Amino acid sequence: MNRIGVLALQGGVIEHRRMLESLGATTVAIRGPKDLPGGPGAQQPQLDGLVIPGGESTALSRLIDIVGLRAPLRSLIASGLPVLGTCAGMVLLADDVENPAAGLVPLGGLAVQVRRNAFGPQLDSMRAVVEWTPSPTDDAQQTGPVPQRVTASFIRAPEVVQHAAHVQVISRLRDGGRVIGVRQGHLTAVAFHPELTGDTTVHRDFLHQVARPSQVSRERAGVEPPR
Ligand code: GLN
Repeated sequence: MNRIGVLALQGGVIEHRRMLESLGATTVAIRGPKDLPGGPGAQQPQLDGLVIPGGESTALSRLIDIVGLRAPLRSLIASGLPVLGTCAGMVLLADDVENPAAGLVPLGGLAVQVRRNAFGPQLDSMRAVVEWTPSPTDDAQQTGPVPQRVTASFIRAPEVVQHAAHVQVISRLRDGGRVIGVRQGHLTAVAFHPELTGDTTVHRDFLHQVARPSQVSRERAGVEPPR
């Protein structure tokens, strides 16, 4: 069974855990280094994936430093572990933030620049059906994955304003529209809250990635020798 860590300092923690558990995963709240494999004072089993929920990126960034999670989270992100960041989680995964608030230091890892609050304030929160490209499956290798639609909730959501060539755009507000979802190897980030609408597409896709480790993760686990 998949064991998914959910960063549990602030924001939509319970909703992500409920959705992942409804899909058959086990979840563990990550509140400090002791909750991570190899963390001090605890012999935690390995994680198969990590979710960084939405909330408020500056508050999350400060709390990450207060509880001593910055270095452990950065090494998890660099390790090849599948990570899903949603909304503020996308901001935290970004290498660059166009309009950071004072005190916001992203964890980084994803070669994108994001603009925070790109869809207006809380009062402009909205629900929309957006484009979504699922991660590749073995049987879709010839044709590529078939684009889908996802019901998404936007609450002071960011958007991706720039991305490196190796970052794949997987979600747009509408055809050719603003970039609200990206994938870079084992890292997936969406600007919206996929845990609030009852649409399980994004979480199912993440668990599919977790169950089908990337080349990097297989090498890391010693299943395959490095190329
Ligand atoms: N705008 C918020 C931020 O920058 C994110 C909002 C959210 O996660 N719903 O952190």
